[in-house]
Amino acid sequence: MSDLKVLSVVSEIYPLVKTGGLADVAGALPGVLVPLGIETRTLVPGYPAVIASLDKPEAVHRFDHLFGGPARLLAGEAAGLKLFVIDAPHLYDRPGGPYVGGNGKDWPDNAARFAALGAVASGIGLGLVPAFVPDVVHAHDWQAGLAPAYLHYSGGRRPGTVMTIHNIAFQGQFPASIVPMLGLPPHAFSVDGIEYYGTVGYLKAGLQLADRITTVSPGYAGEILQPEGGMGLEGLLNMRRAVLSGILNGLDEDAWNPATDTLIAAQFDIKRLKARAANKVALKKKFALDADPDALLFGVVSRLSWQKGLDLLADSLGTLLGMRAQLVLLGSGDAELAERFVGAARANPGRIGVELGYDEAAAHLIQAGADALLVPSRFEPCGLTQLSALRYGALPVVSRVGGLADTVIDVNEMAKSVGVGTGVQFSPVTGSALQGALTRTGGLWQDRKLWRKLQQNAMATDVSWRHAAVDYAKLFRDVAAERAA
Ligand code: ADP
Repeated sequence: MSDLKVLSVVSEIYPLVKTGGLADVAGALPGVLVPLGIETRTLVPGYPAVIASLDKPEAVHRFDHLFGGPARLLAGEAAGLKLFVIDAPHLYDRPGGPYVGGNGKDWPDNAARFAALGAVASGIGLGLVPAFVPDVVHAHDWQAGLAPAYLHYSGGRRPGTVMTIHNIAFQGQFPASIVPMLGLPPHAFSVDGIEYYGTVGYLKAGLQLADRITTVSPGYAGEILQPEGGMGLEGLLNMRRAVLSGILNGLDEDAWNPATDTLIAAQFDIKRLKARAANKVALKKKFALDADPDALLFGVVSRLSWQKGLDLLADSLGTLLGMRAQLVLLGSGDAELAERFVGAARANPGRIGVELGYDEAAAHLIQAGADALLVPSRFEPCGLTQLSALRYGALPVVSRVGGLADTVIDVNEMAKSVGVGTGVQFSPVTGSALQGALTRTGGLWQDRKLWRKLQQNAMATDVSWRHAAVDYAKLFRDVAAERAA
C-alpha cells in the first residue's frame, strides 16, 4: 500500500518521448518507488506521441485559457506509467522534437510551453485533482523549474518540492519581457526568485525555491559547486548546499538485460559469457567491419555534442587505428562532428563504422558486441551508457568526471591486485589523456584472461535502482514531513 504521493513533472519520459537519459530516469523511477510505498503520477506535455499512447484518457480538468489557448488535463495510463497529460494543442500538438522544430531551432514559444508545465504542476499540487493530491512535487530539469516557483508564490498550504538537475548546461533562460505572461506576483522577478542575471531562469527559479535539490550523482553534486561545473549557478548552489545531494541514477534492468534482450543477436549473462561473441560478429557485420577476431572493438553510443568530448576521439583515431583496433559509432547531433566520423569511416573501411541517427536496436547491439565502450565526456552528470556497458560486459573507458568517476572502477595496479577493476578512467579530459587510455586499454586486451575477469567484474556491478530508490524515498518522506509539520 502506498502512503505517500509524488507528482513527477518532466518534459520527456521513456518509452513515450526520449531525447536522452532524463527520459530513462523519469520512466524508471516511479516503478522502483512502488515497493517503498510511494505512488507516483507523472505530469507530461501532450505531445502527439503521448496523446496517442494514452489508454482510456479521462479529462479531469478544463482550462479556458492556458498560456494562449484552451486546454484539458487528461489522466490515463501508457506503457505502465500513470500519467497526467496537458492536452494543449496550441502548445504541444506539432511535428518535431519536444524542444526543437524541424529547422533544428528551439520552438519560439518554449517559455510558454514549459511555463504551462510548471503552472499545471502547481495546480495539481494545490488540489486541482481531488483524487490525487501529492505530498511532494518532483521537478526535473529546467522545463519543470517553474513548478516549485508557482507553488512557492501560491502562498497557501502546499506540498514539498524537490528540484532535480539532470544537466546544468540546459538552464531555460528567457528575456525579462516574458514576466507578465507567467502570471506570478511582480516580486517573483527578483534575485530571490526567478530572476537570473536580468533574465528569467527556469532552472534557477527551481533551484532557488525548491525545498530540496538533487542531482544524479554524488560526483556531479560536488562539481556543480565549482565555477567550471556550475555554469553560472554555482553561487546559488553554494548558498543552498545544505539542501543539495547527489543520488546516483540506476539502469532500467528490464530494458537493459543481456539475458533477455531481444534486440541483440545472442543473449548471454555472466555465466554464459562465451555466447556474447556472436554479438561481436553480428555487430561487425552490421557495420561492415573486417572479421579480424583479435582486433579490439571499441563502441560509442552518444549524442554528438561538445559535452560528450567526441571531438577528442576524432582527434585520437590515429592512435586507435595504430593499435589495430576498430570502432563503431552510433550518434546523432552536431553535423560537423558527424561529418568528421563519416569521413574517417570512408577513409578506413573495415576499421571504422558509423551510423548517424537514433537507433535503439543498434545501441543495444553495440553494448552487447563491442569489447569496450568509450565515454570521453567533458562533464557527465551521471551517464547511462557506461552503466549499460557494465551490465553487458563492454568495458567502459571513461573520463574521470561526474557520474563516470562514480561508477567505473579504474583497473590500476592496486585494483588489479585485489581483482576489482571494471574499466579505464582517464584525466584530464584531453586528446592526449584519451590516447593514453586507448593505449592502456589495448594493453589490457593483450591479456584475455584478465579481460574476461574484468568483464565479469563489470557485469557483477550493481547498476540497479535499488540504492537510489531508497534514497529518493527517504528524501520525499523527509520533505513531506517537513511541510506537514
Ligand atoms: P545524455 O542524457 O546526456 O544524452 P546519458 O548517457 O545519460 O546521456 O543517456 C543517453 C541515453 O540515450 C542512453 O539510454 C543511450 O543508450 C541513449 N542514446 C544516446 N544516443 C543514442 C542513439 N544515437 N541511438 C540510440 N540511443 C541513444
